[in-house]
Amino acid sequence: MSLQFEIIEESPSGGRRARLNLPHQAVETPVFMPVGTAGSVKAVAQDVLETLGAQIILGNTYHLYLRPGHEAIQRMGGLHRFISWPRAMLTDSGGFQVFSLSQLRKVSDEGVRFRSHLDGSSHFFTPEHSMDVQIALGADIAMAFDECTEYPAERIRAEESLRLTMAWARRSLDHFRAHQAKVMWHDELGGRTQSLFGIVQGGMYRDLRRQSAERLVEMDFDGYAIGGLSVGEPRDLTLEMIAEVLPLLPAGKPRYVMGVGYPDEIEQYARMGVDMMDCVLPTRAARHGLLFTSEGRLNIKNKRYAEDQGPPDPACDCMVCRRYSRAYLRHLMQSGEALSGTLNTIHNLAFYLGIMRRVRTELESRLAQPAEPAATAGTTAHPR
Ligand SMILES: [Zn+2]
Repeated sequence: MSLQFEIIEESPSGGRRARLNLPHQAVETPVFMPVGTAGSVKAVAQDVLETLGAQIILGNTYHLYLRPGHEAIQRMGGLHRFISWPRAMLTDSGGFQVFSLSQLRKVSDEGVRFRSHLDGSSHFFTPEHSMDVQIALGADIAMAFDECTEYPAERIRAEESLRLTMAWARRSLDHFRAHQAKVMWHDELGGRTQSLFGIVQGGMYRDLRRQSAERLVEMDFDGYAIGGLSVGEPRDLTLEMIAEVLPLLPAGKPRYVMGVGYPDEIEQYARMGVDMMDCVLPTRAARHGLLFTSEGRLNIKNKRYAEDQGPPDPACDCMVCRRYSRAYLRHLMQSGEALSGTLNTIHNLAFYLGIMRRVRTELESRLAQPAEPAATAGTTAHPR
C-alpha cells in the first residue's frame, strides 16, 4: 500500500478537509509543504520545523542527485534518515531544475542531457532514471518526470512539450510500479511503498490541460499534480487553469498544485479543492527581508522599522513574533547576521502553515454545525 486518502469534509465550493495517510506520517490537508531544496529548508533546523507544525517537506531530486548523490543517500538509509526528518517527504522529479538551472540541455524523446550547474559535468536524465533516483532517495511521494512548459509558449510548442510529458508519464509509471517495492523502508514500515503522482501540463491552453488530465487519470497514478503554473503568467490565468483541471481529477485522490504561491493564493486554491501546495516564496522572500503578515507584506529592511519595538506581526504567535521586535530583525538584516534569515524564515513559514491550519479548521467546523435550514442550502455542509 502506498497512500490512503480519506476525505473528512467537503465544502460546497469544493474545498476538502482530508487526511493523507503516508508511510511516514498522516498529513492533514489542505497542507502547505515547505521546500527543503538540498535536504534542508534553508536556514531552519528540523526540530524547529516540527515545532512549527510542518507535516511534510520537499526535497529536490536534481540537487540531491548532484550532491551528495542519491546512491550515497541510499547507503545512509534514505533521505528521511540522512536529514533526520521522521515525518512525510516528497521529492520532485528533477525535471524542473534540469530545465531551469543546468547548462547546455539537449532534450530528446529518450530524455535530457545536461551539464551540472555545480561543476559542468555531463549527465543524462530519463524518466526511468528519475524514478530510480527518487526510489533511492526514498521520499513518501515521488513525482513523474515531466517538462515544465515555459510561459509564454506558442500553441505548437505547448503541444510538443505535452506530447513529451505524456510519454514520459507513462514510462515513469511503468518503471516506478516495477521497482517501487525496492524502497529501503519497505519492510521496516510493514510493506508500505512510495506513491507516484502524475503532473498535468499543457501550458496556458485549456484544451491541452484537459487532454493532459484525462490521459493521466487513465494511467491511474496515486495522486495528481498541476504543474507549469506560477511561471510568469498573470494570476487570473493560473486560476483559470486550476479551475479547468480540478473537476477532471478523481475526487478520491490527492491534488497538488506545484510552486504556488502568495498567501492569498494558497488560501483561495485550498478552498477550491487543492489538497497540497509548495512554494519557495516564504523561505526565499524571508532571506531577502520580506515578511508576510496579517497586515500585508513588510519589508524589514525599511528604515521606518529602525526603532520599532513592535513584533513583526502583532496577530502572529510564532516563536519569533513572541520574542523579537521589528527593530531587532531589521538590525540583523542590516548587519548580515545569519540569524536574520533564520528568524525571518521561521515567521514566514509559521504564517503560511497558519493559513492552512485556519482553512482546515474552517472546513472542519462545518462538521460541528447543526444542519442549516433549506433556505441557506447553498452553504450547507455535506455530511458524510
Ligand atoms: Zn510570527
